[in-house]
Amino acid sequence: MQYNSVSMQTAEVVIIGGGIVGSSIAYHLTAAGCKDVLVIERETAQGKGSTGKSMGGVRAQFSTPVNIQMSLYSIPFYASFDERLGYPAGYRPQGYLFCATQDKHLAYLRTNQQEQIAMGLKNVRMVSADEIRGMFPQLRSDDILGGSFCSTDGFVDPYSAMNGFMSWAADHGAKLWKNTPVTAIQRDARGISGVETSKGPVSTRKVVNAAGPWAAGVAEMAGVDLPVEPLRRMLVPTEPFDQFPHTAPMIIDMSNGFHFRPESLGFLLAWNDPEETPGFKTDFESTFIEKILMRAADRVPIFENLAVNPKRAWAGLYEMTPDHHPILGEVPGVPGFFLANGFSGHGVMHAPATGKILSDLLLTGKTDLVDASLLNLSRFAEGRMIEETAVL
Ligand SMILES: Cc1cc2nc3c(=O)[nH]c(=O)nc-3n(C[C@H](O)[C@H](O)[C@H](O)COP(=O)(O)OP(=O)(O)OC[C@H]3O[C@@H](n4cnc5c(N)ncnc54)[C@H](O)[C@@H]3O)c2cc1C
Repeated sequence: MQYNSVSMQTAEVVIIGGGIVGSSIAYHLTAAGCKDVLVIERETAQGKGSTGKSMGGVRAQFSTPVNIQMSLYSIPFYASFDERLGYPAGYRPQGYLFCATQDKHLAYLRTNQQEQIAMGLKNVRMVSADEIRGMFPQLRSDDILGGSFCSTDGFVDPYSAMNGFMSWAADHGAKLWKNTPVTAIQRDARGISGVETSKGPVSTRKVVNAAGPWAAGVAEMAGVDLPVEPLRRMLVPTEPFDQFPHTAPMIIDMSNGFHFRPESLGFLLAWNDPEETPGFKTDFESTFIEKILMRAADRVPIFENLAVNPKRAWAGLYEMTPDHHPILGEVPGVPGFFLANGFSGHGVMHAPATGKILSDLLLTGKTDLVDASLLNLSRFAEGRMIEETAVL
């Protein structure tokens, strides 16, 4: 195909994918003074990938230092988002309450809580079974041994936060191309040299892969093998229900992973079916409703009265890595190709930190936010995986 070289587009940084992660990177780059940023999104609107399917939970209650550090940047960022950006993120600090039903859960929460406090998290504490009963007498608590609660954990509106990031970036010079698939990534002897899109080529020395569950396909365009797999997750919103407080936190039943939070006038129910297998499956399976309602009523007996409209339930894709940590930073051996992928269920809560880390790495080659070498792609080849077990 012939293109007129006079009209060849250029950008200092091209970001492939306009979900919450690409948008946060665009915001952080622009805020750091890099105005020549181009976000390329193949859909006609942003948010049609995982971002628009998310449950919007944000928490610092993780088990590994690097995940805790990412939350310690991200949650205060969300708390001050509206003030900083002039757009709403819908942060609601209603907390996360983990309910332990086995001694090993309790020991696990205690170890994590000590790590979280040592790293600077202030509002996390262990709670007794009696305290949980007092907080939520509606829970069946005969097997609850105690738990942990962090009051600054909570929820955001992912769609709104994504729009806020991108709108601020666009207000300050970044460009967004919608309805524009990236179809190829070009390399030369120096590294990345450009991308090919449905609107023609763009010349650039820096490309960020922010393609969510489709990241492996985008990496392949640059000749990079990326261990990110799509995994279906289904969510079930209920009809209005007023017999459980709407000020409740995200409540996690550690006996089976069932969790729920208030949403609108009802509740949003989640449970990760261990039998789910990787693949690009985004259809909602109606049999899931019975499975999740059974677990809901088992932990919250009055949830037997919940009404659910199956047409309002949905499925989306997690972007899973082998160690449930994101893959961030420049690909060794491919100068200018940066990854922001594989959030394994945490891409909304860690989008602010990811934006900051990627912006630092793109502009200065280093970051103080985390030890970025821990999250580099080379950890897999070098056997340095960092397992996160607190995955919901
Ligand atoms: C059911 C469910 C519940 C979840 N709950 C939570 C939660 O409570 N908390 C949390 O933190 N996270 C949660 N997540 C995970 C979170 O939603 C994701 O980690 C996050 O949205 C990833 O954002 P992203 O921008 O990387 O990806 P996406 O939002 O998927 O964006 C990637 C974009 O790249 C575009 N793209 C792909 N290929 C190309 C191409 N070739 N050219 C141009 N554009 C391209 C896509 O169209 C898409 O818009 C949940 C996910 C699901 C599915």
